[in-house]
Amino acid sequence: MMDIKKMNKQKKIALVAHDNRKKDLIAWVKVNKEILSKHFLFGTGTTGKLISEATELPVVRYNSGPIGGDQQIGSRIIEGDIDFMVFFWDPLEAQPHDPDVKALLRIAVLYDIPVAMNQATADFIFTSHLMEEEYERFVIDYTKRLKRKI
Ligand code: PGA
Repeated sequence: MMDIKKMNKQKKIALVAHDNRKKDLIAWVKVNKEILSKHFLFGTGTTGKLISEATELPVVRYNSGPIGGDQQIGSRIIEGDIDFMVFFWDPLEAQPHDPDVKALLRIAVLYDIPVAMNQATADFIFTSHLMEEEYERFVIDYTKRLKRKI
């Protein structure tokens, strides 16, 4: 069974980048500023601050990633307050908060939210006609599984 979650035309987008990828994300945000300005933006502490400074787009900021920002974004996804994510994580360097990153990516898959983890994916997703439309996400209903007798 599936649980349907509706995404509005205006998406609630989380923007996150690890330190070595922040420049790339900011450059991408600048190029896509007009599209992004139609949506609600959220971000981890440093990423959000740098994006606001560079583009003047309003970004609701959570804690910095290493002090719990990824976990906060994960909880907002669960609560339905974030339904979209662009996360440029660093493929070449381990992070002190790697377990949080893994948890966030798991929650994003579980709640069926679009996640761009590199520029090409972000470009393809953001040129989708679905960016301008409502969309129904399908979240697998795990109730039966949780109730199973072991
Ligand atoms: P930051 O956190 O935006 O505060 O640097 C991002 C992260 O490391 O997950």
